[in-house]
Amino acid sequence: MDLMTGPDIAPAALAVAKEVVMTDALSLMLQTRPHVLADGATGTALFNMGLDAATPAEIWNATHPDRIAALHRSAIEAGSDLFLTNSFGANASRLARHGAAARVTELNRRAAEIARDQADRAGRTVIVAGSMGPSGEFMAPMGSLTHARAVQMFHEQAEALRDGGADILWVETLSSLEELRAAAEAARLSGMAWCGSLSFDTAGRTIMGVTPGQLAAAVERLPNPPVAYGANCGVGASDLLRSVTGLAASGNERPTIAKGNAGVPHLQDGHIHYDGTPELMADYACLARDLGVRIIGGCCGTMPAHLRAMHEALETRPRGPRPALDQITAQLGAFSSCGADDRRH
Ligand SMILES: [Zn+2]
Repeated sequence: MDLMTGPDIAPAALAVAKEVVMTDALSLMLQTRPHVLADGATGTALFNMGLDAATPAEIWNATHPDRIAALHRSAIEAGSDLFLTNSFGANASRLARHGAAARVTELNRRAAEIARDQADRAGRTVIVAGSMGPSGEFMAPMGSLTHARAVQMFHEQAEALRDGGADILWVETLSSLEELRAAAEAARLSGMAWCGSLSFDTAGRTIMGVTPGQLAAAVERLPNPPVAYGANCGVGASDLLRSVTGLAASGNERPTIAKGNAGVPHLQDGHIHYDGTPELMADYACLARDLGVRIIGGCCGTMPAHLRAMHEALETRPRGPRPALDQITAQLGAFSSCGADDRRH
């Protein structure tokens, strides 16, 4: 019999068990402040430090730990309360493409250790979120990746991130609910609290067709729901906030996450440059807050200058009423496509 759900467990024991679950670092932080500032881009920043497209970013955890530490330090100094480890693509399937499938445990553990060290030097509470990105394979029935194998891959990553000192797991840029469920199960197996975020990059849906409303409903059906859930990456900052509006409209009151891109990418002098200014991302951060988002950060193109502007704006600008979609586009620019829910109007 399952010890946690058996009928002969006293109610007091169950209450204690529930309390333990709520004492993860992020839940505690959310109890003490209105919003948490997350970090910005990892990929963009590492490419600008010299990473080439043929090398998995996570290899740098072994070869250039100083540069990964500098990336984390820049987020902390810009005011981030939470940042992601450099482990987004460090699952067995993605590393196998580079002949490095055997290095999952090593590279994830190093990612968490480098991050933990920087967080512990911050002089304030900064949360280390163990990043896990998509497996890189299509799950059954569309593809050949089984649920069991997906759980196994995420679990391998999760255990190493935990052992390296991550406070929480951070599953992001996913596009399917099947993959989210596999990651959730891996979090449960490793005894970690987690957050989950999808990329709504295809006309307001994920590339697999999931809407923000469907995500909001799906997380509540999980046996171990995430501490927070939301949207990251996708297209531009205005599109990201439209997805967040969809999460809020679902009525789910679980804390939400917004990590939008700083504009769209251009190649400039051999570097990838995103056209969103720090001022635009400051407006984006305040609009996200006014939409009720609790964890606010940036994705691709979001550099320390953007994070500093977001931090300053969140600390100094008064809270406003919940913005309508036309206010979001007036401040951040037009949506790149019609939204997932537009057909209803
Ligand atoms: Zn991104």
